[in-house]
Amino acid sequence: MDVADRVASVRERITAAASRAGRDPASVRLVAVTKGVEAAAIREVIAAGVRDLGENRVPEAVRKREELPKGLTWHMVGHVQSNKASRVAAVFDVVHSIDSASIAAHLGARRDPERDPIAGLLEVDLTGIAQRTGTRADGIEDVVRSAAGVVGMHLVGLMTIAPQGGPERARECFATLRALRDRAATATGWPLPELSMGMSDDYEVAVEEGATLVRVGRAIFAGAD
Ligand SMILES: *Cc1c(COP(=O)(O)O)cnc(C)c1O
Repeated sequence: MDVADRVASVRERITAAASRAGRDPASVRLVAVTKGVEAAAIREVIAAGVRDLGENRVPEAVRKREELPKGLTWHMVGHVQSNKASRVAAVFDVVHSIDSASIAAHLGARRDPERDPIAGLLEVDLTGIAQRTGTRADGIEDVVRSAAGVVGMHLVGLMTIAPQGGPERARECFATLRALRDRAATATGWPLPELSMGMSDDYEVAVEEGATLVRVGRAIFAGAD
């Protein structure tokens, strides 16, 4: 299979998962995670109609933005350090990996006011693994309240990375994130319509559990470079 076939297959699986859950497949956006993938293979996903690209490192994203057509939506999925906030704010349209109120504030303050605000997602760690980045579940509402006042960054939802252990373990995590989102939106009055969850091994269960953004790398690019 080439990259275009793999994109078609991922799209079919997203559509099937959405139908199983009684959801509109158009409510799920496919973000092709292109970290470590060269421009030639990325052009193939663009030719297949993908407009959303995910990267986890600033210099790599800067280089690719120069090489690739305009009009794409660039998603930051990697950890954001506060000393890189201005570069992240310049390069990316969507940041999935905001893990604290202070990162939200740094990004918003550094966004060019002439541009649309960054669309931000709060990364939540539900695994409790020490090295993992992300806000803990009991900290979500505080960050949402504080990010709601930030200019230059508009908080649109929550993101998580499932623990290892297969799709059914991932499903629990995704269902929990969705419930936490519902609760935080009600408690704060701040709508959080987006749920970024699901990667190559678990994007179908993520769609069944309400993902609006799936971040897929290997299922599209494995073997493409
Ligand atoms: C690499 C990465 C992905 C894509 O992972 P695959 O398993 O290749 O689909 C998604 N989200 C984040 C945060 C990543 O770092």
